[in-house]
Amino acid sequence: MGSPDPGHPIRVTPSPTPERASLTQRLTAFAYGLGFDAVGVATLGEPATRAAFDAWLARGQHAGMHYLDGAGAELRRDARRPHPGATHAVVLAASYGGHVPSGAVARYARGDDYHEVLRERVREVHHWLEREVGHPVNARPYVDSGPLLERDLAQRAGLGWFGKNTMLITPEAGSFLFLASLLVEFELEPSAPFEADRCGSCTRCLDACPTGALPAPRVLDANRCISYLTIEHRGAIPPALRYGVGGLLYGCDICNDVCPWNVKFAREAMLPEFIPRELFTEAHDGEGTRALARAFLMMSPADYAAAFKGSAIKRAKLWMLQRNACVVLGNVGTDEDLTVLDAMDAHEHALVREHAVWAIDHIVRRSRDLPGPRQR
Ligand code: SF4
Ligand code: SF4
Repeated sequence: MGSPDPGHPIRVTPSPTPERASLTQRLTAFAYGLGFDAVGVATLGEPATRAAFDAWLARGQHAGMHYLDGAGAELRRDARRPHPGATHAVVLAASYGGHVPSGAVARYARGDDYHEVLRERVREVHHWLEREVGHPVNARPYVDSGPLLERDLAQRAGLGWFGKNTMLITPEAGSFLFLASLLVEFELEPSAPFEADRCGSCTRCLDACPTGALPAPRVLDANRCISYLTIEHRGAIPPALRYGVGGLLYGCDICNDVCPWNVKFAREAMLPEFIPRELFTEAHDGEGTRALARAFLMMSPADYAAAFKGSAIKRAKLWMLQRNACVVLGNVGTDEDLTVLDAMDAHEHALVREHAVWAIDHIVRRSRDLPGPRQR
């Protein structure tokens, strides 16, 4: 295991046009005032990671995320395509809090849905720009919602570098960050791209991934990634990967948690909407995780709708959360969890029934010390 490069980012300041530079500076200050942790401006063009993106798709490492290939890929191959006419992007990053304990639900999903929270603030940046220049400016906000390679854009806007864990890492605030962009049909002063790679010889994220989903630096195999399997994937969690899921009910923060840049520089969430909901505050040890898994299994559709109103966790349907809960209880559950798992026998979804049988089998073997499939 090596160490990250502790040096300072190389930022070369391009020659500014005084008026444009001043406007961009004031816009940046306004965005920081809204609670963003990093702000920059990029000129739109072909992403530097385009070839790597194409190779990733060709290897099928985007798994079942087919919105990323075909027409979706075509738009992502040039940042000028999603909003024709736009020439620049204001790129913004907001911390969702890297200091709260790691737990069964990934940190990003414990508060309100970031799409809505950030889109509202990106719109405020847009309205500020229009007020300042005194005329309408065509623009479009993106918050993880459109065909844009946002991390590439963030690197181009000087926010940070593409870490070996495939996250955008900022030297000031690590990588527990949401990214958002405002594509504008307006000339702003571009920031200097972030050219340095501050990972150095470190490989902590690759070494720590429990399912081997980072086969090489900056390559994510979504087919093996717990975040993909527990949030996006609509099928069975492959049996061989279920052990690696451990106690993770929704998403995975491991390759962020081990990153020295987060250990040192991760921040609290600035925006109050990202403060974790009560349901998730206890799910960071065995007892709390099992309690939340059982709560997922006992939820009715009405409970689910009420508990997760306005939450990003609704990206996963109730049956998917219940599938995940079975895997987690299979890994960390005890005899006390058998009753709720037995009740899944009547679940309308065959996949949940199959995962519950798997979980019961693993709990029984573990508690009776019976031989069986390998367990972590
Ligand atoms: S999110 Fe988890 S499973 Fe996915 S690459 Fe990172 S450590 Fe591995
Ligand atoms: S943990 Fe991964 S992303 Fe973080 S510095 Fe080390 S190699 Fe880079």
